[in-house]
Amino acid sequence: MDMTMKTVQEFLGPEPMTGIDGERGRHWIRHEDGDRLWLVLDRQEVSTNTFNEEVFRELNVLLAHAEQEKWKAIVFRSAKPNGFAAGADLSEFRGVEPSAELEARIAEANAVIDRIAALDVTTIAVVHGTCVGGGLELALACDRIIARDDAKFGFPEVLVGLHPGLGGTARLTHRIQPIEAMTLMLTGKTVDARKGRSLGFVDAVVPERDVGKAVDEAVAGRMERRGGGRTGDALNLYPARKAAAYQMRNETEKRAPAEHYPAPQALIDLWEKHGGSEEDMLQAERQSFAKLLPLPVTQNLIRAFFLRDTLKGNGKGTSGIAHVHVVGAGTMGAEIGAWCALKGMRVTIEDPQVAALGRAVAGAHKLINRKLHGPEALHARDRFIPDTNGVGLRHADLVIEAAPEKPELKRSIYARLEKEVRPDTVIATNTSSLDLAALFEGLAKPDRFVGIHFFNPVWKLDLVEVVRHDGVDEDVYSKALRLVADIGKLPLPVKAAPGFLVNRALMPYLGEALLMIDEGEQPERIDAAAEAFGMPVGPVELADQVGLDICLAVADSLAESLERPMPPVPQWLRAKVEAGHLGRKTGKGLYDYDSDNKPKKDKVKQAPDKAMRDRMLLPMLDAVAATLEAGVVPDADSADAAMIFGTGFAPFRGGPMHYAKERGYADVAATMEKLVLVHGPRFTPSRWWQRAHD
Ligand code: NAD
Repeated sequence: MDMTMKTVQEFLGPEPMTGIDGERGRHWIRHEDGDRLWLVLDRQEVSTNTFNEEVFRELNVLLAHAEQEKWKAIVFRSAKPNGFAAGADLSEFRGVEPSAELEARIAEANAVIDRIAALDVTTIAVVHGTCVGGGLELALACDRIIARDDAKFGFPEVLVGLHPGLGGTARLTHRIQPIEAMTLMLTGKTVDARKGRSLGFVDAVVPERDVGKAVDEAVAGRMERRGGGRTGDALNLYPARKAAAYQMRNETEKRAPAEHYPAPQALIDLWEKHGGSEEDMLQAERQSFAKLLPLPVTQNLIRAFFLRDTLKGNGKGTSGIAHVHVVGAGTMGAEIGAWCALKGMRVTIEDPQVAALGRAVAGAHKLINRKLHGPEALHARDRFIPDTNGVGLRHADLVIEAAPEKPELKRSIYARLEKEVRPDTVIATNTSSLDLAALFEGLAKPDRFVGIHFFNPVWKLDLVEVVRHDGVDEDVYSKALRLVADIGKLPLPVKAAPGFLVNRALMPYLGEALLMIDEGEQPERIDAAAEAFGMPVGPVELADQVGLDICLAVADSLAESLERPMPPVPQWLRAKVEAGHLGRKTGKGLYDYDSDNKPKKDKVKQAPDKAMRDRMLLPMLDAVAATLEAGVVPDADSADAAMIFGTGFAPFRGGPMHYAKERGYADVAATMEKLVLVHGPRFTPSRWWQRAHD
């Protein structure tokens, strides 16, 4: 083994690098290693590498020096255990206005990446863990990309209303087959190292122990650049681009209409018009990026990105919960248990019906097999244990009850639990609509009781409402918040109140939609009105998805417990529920469902109008305002986050309260006053709108 090789291997170590020798700047480490220079990114004060102006400026100086020296190769790597780099620091993008200064900032960052691309020595990116957005753009500016086998690549920019802006659109479409490149950017999906290699932008995939050898190969010119082959070049010719762009536009329009999501269409335009030349596309990309960034929809999507962090922050620290016992293996219990097992908890689950347990096991295995592979999947399946005798209770750190929504039944379950569990075991309920105080009445230790309200389907909806009551122990409550974060969900702290936040806000919206059907409105038109606003599905389809039985139960319970009148429930809805037509789950509800479980919808006969939209939307906004007024949720941002991640509320609007703010609180209240005259007092605006808010 020669010395160079030895140094490289010691330098890389068996684990991702930390504490490397070398000349440490603020964010970069410069390490000389024989005939190669290593530039290792280790952005200060954060655990994940992201790019900001400071990181780029420092890199620019390092590159300027390197250009004056005689290196055979320059190798880029990250010192963070979790990955290469996650792209731009989005906080620098918040609140930007269209300006020459913005364009100059974008040009300055691009100049640094272009400088790497222009180096005449061999440039190599050695990538492990997460390498997305700007991280991948830096890697693409290098001659070779060596991926460690755990690397993950992607361009998630479309999810925040952007496309790559550091040359990524041009470099990827010219490095691999351009339609594959466009698909990666249009979907925002991540791919693993092997997929990256088969797509052609990763040139080698190696385990950590072979990174040194792979770098040697690349430096010696013995590693071929994979690329997209001849097809790739042909597809960048104008006629092929034009035809492919046409199809992409149609496909994209169905998923993300350009009116609400301009970024994917801007990306397609960019490639269609400029994809013939990498240089031309590089220039055009900057301009397109500068145009997208200040748009309100983009700013709102970036806002949603940060709102997710706000919710995550509610569960900081670990819960210490390792064993969860689930009572009731029906729709919710089975899914909650499966999710907890997937995320590393040991789960025991009980149900008086053996058949329910059988279904729960099958469902859990299906979820786990979809998400995990090999030994990881095996261990997760082993962690999900049907428990016919309730043996798990003695070991459980937390018990979650998901039995039918009947107070008597739930109380009797708690009485049994209290005798079996340890004194420090948390007892939680998944109730959607019952009064917490009435549920823990008989408990000797009500301070260990808390609400943990998951949404259906659990695997899809990230929000979980964590419900506090006056008597809860603070440690128990924060344990519950942390448990939710431990399993990768977003905890929203709420105070016990009818419908908490999400159901309280959704029901008036769904209720108005049902009343419109009652008045003879076409259901498809009602859905179209909400979709035109930006909801992923309209209220009629949503009610079918939730289940008409559940909607009816929550609507009745809210009508009973709230002082404010709720939209009256049409008689035919009760009849449907009694007949077992409960929505998507039974193949029949407000719509009929085909064999793929898709609603059979007719064409919308007449375009929806704004009045329909306001009639449904404003009661939802008002309900959120009422929960703020009553202190059910901590603040408007949390409420916005919850509605985006719990109900899919149009994310590019920034959330219901953000939308109300942009529209003007006074306008919301005044429009509701007008609706009172047409539809009655249930539209009376909440007092919240009249207060001064900043
Ligand atoms: P479900 O009817 O699908 O399941 C309830 C399960 O509990 C059944 O399998 C039943 O056999 C079992 N069970 C009955 N008596 C029991 C007992 N004494 N001990 C243990 N298990 C018993 O109900 P679900 O829809 O899963 O709802 C469960 C809870 O979750 C309810 O409180 C509901 O309000 C809440 N919730 C439901 C949804 C939803 O969309 N379904 C969403 C959020 C919250």
